[in-house]
Amino acid sequence: MRKGSVAHVIMTTIASNLQAVRNAIAIAAAGAGRAPGGIVLLAVSKTFPPKAIREAYHAGQAVFGESYVQEALEKIAALHDLPIEWHFIGPIQSNKTRAIAENFAWVHSVDRLKIAERLSAQRPQILPPLDVCLQVNISGEGSKSGVAPNEAAGLAQAVARLPQLRLRGLMAIPAPSDDVAAQRLPFAQLRELRDQLNRQGLSLDTLSMGMSHDFAAAIAEGATMVRVGSAIFGLRDYGGK
Ligand SMILES: *Cc1c(COP(=O)(O)O)cnc(C)c1O
Repeated sequence: MRKGSVAHVIMTTIASNLQAVRNAIAIAAAGAGRAPGGIVLLAVSKTFPPKAIREAYHAGQAVFGESYVQEALEKIAALHDLPIEWHFIGPIQSNKTRAIAENFAWVHSVDRLKIAERLSAQRPQILPPLDVCLQVNISGEGSKSGVAPNEAAGLAQAVARLPQLRLRGLMAIPAPSDDVAAQRLPFAQLRELRDQLNRQGLSLDTLSMGMSHDFAAAIAEGATMVRVGSAIFGLRDYGGK
């Protein structure tokens, strides 16, 4: 890469953004009396090209999240030379479950038993079980996705019995807020729901919660995985998506 070219500037930005996000995670963890190693940074690369992901990889990031199946499959193929761990975090249509089961290590957005059953049935036997989180519609209004909190226990018990899935925890996308106290409330509710399910015999170790604007609040409430896109890669241009 030539020094001073536009691509060079973009790559430098991704590396320094990643460093800034890692620092902010460490500060939030320290503030909560937690070890920063207990929080996995999932870099959400949707809408960004393989070369942005490659640059993040060379800056030490090996776990990436994608939301659109077709777009993700193209990038996974383009980056097959890198040992990336791919997480699917978007809405799941039943005709896409096979591609997800075959190409991802984790799925964060399971919110119906039918989808979970298909993912389990279609997970290739040669791969380890697919790690999954249930997406919970924790703040009600706003989002259409996610199981209702009062239906989460039933779904979790059923998903936990599926042979080719490993139920790891819960995920939520609360309505955005600029107020940190307001941001913390739904994250605390998701943590309490996780604790309640564990008291009912499940062993959920994952809380996938927190995005670019609210990951510090999520860490304060126990997030073990934060899903950060724009703070690493810049603003997204959906171009009609
Ligand atoms: C896009 C997306 C993110 C990342 O959002 P940012 O605000 O860019 O950090 C996280 N989680 C899910 C489910 C997403 O779709």
